[in-house]
Amino acid sequence: MTEKSLANRVALVTGASRGIGRAAALALATEGAHVIALARTVGGLEELDDEITAAGGSATLVPLDLKDFEALDRLGASIFERWEKLDIFLGNAGVLGVLTLVSHLSPKAFQELLDVNVTANWRLIRSLDPLLKLSDAGRVLFVSSTLAQEARPFWGGYAMSKAALESLALTYAAECATTHVRVNLLNPGATRTAMRSKAMPGEDASTLPTPQDIAPLIVKMLSPSFSENGARIDACMA
Ligand code: NDP
Repeated sequence: MTEKSLANRVALVTGASRGIGRAAALALATEGAHVIALARTVGGLEELDDEITAAGGSATLVPLDLKDFEALDRLGASIFERWEKLDIFLGNAGVLGVLTLVSHLSPKAFQELLDVNVTANWRLIRSLDPLLKLSDAGRVLFVSSTLAQEARPFWGGYAMSKAALESLALTYAAECATTHVRVNLLNPGATRTAMRSKAMPGEDASTLPTPQDIAPLIVKMLSPSFSENGARIDACMA
């Protein structure tokens, strides 16, 4: 029997309870990675666990709010105690926030965009960097958006958070250039998920790619053989 491409690799996936993160977590586990699946919704994580087990893979569930920054610090220590390294970090979780004029955004909505889409990813970089460097091929991928590079009315809060995430990720990539760690960005494009239907309620979602369609590209970008660093890849161009 041939060994799976991600056998013996340990992967943390944020936002694994539904949508793109859940499909990516299942695809990573199917390729042999042990998936540490993080999100708040226990039911979604348990359904993922069942799917992974049925596919012959394994997972550890981490029901956690990404706004609990001290828990993110502790997560790095827990992963070290159990696996002594981390091979893959998929920073996928995100919130859309409220689509409104920049001048109408509430401080609470603005803060949540910063907390979940930016600060949590920085806190995870801080917590996981030593573990990624213990891997022979640490791979990091952050899920961004077209909006990171576009000024579209009503989308300012979300766009600001993704632009900040891109800046953080690309700087981290440059800092990792001389190591075995590779850090990249993926713009999935319009994908049939709960977030997309909240953003575009009138849309015929049946015309959109599904999270399962995007998952193989995510697996590819998180594989040891993917050597690009600091790349921003659009799924529709890949
Ligand atoms: P979904 O809303 O379907 O899923 C978002 C995931 O993030 C859920 O698993 C959710 O889990 C998790 N999450 C949100 N807030 C928190 C939190 N505070 N703590 C822990 N987990 C949290 O979104 P998508 O799958 O569509 O989006 C995934 C990524 O792709 C996002 O970064 C998004 O910005 C990006 N993207 C999506 C596009 C699309 O068309 N769908 C287009 C471009 C980019 P839970 O609620 O259980 O905590």
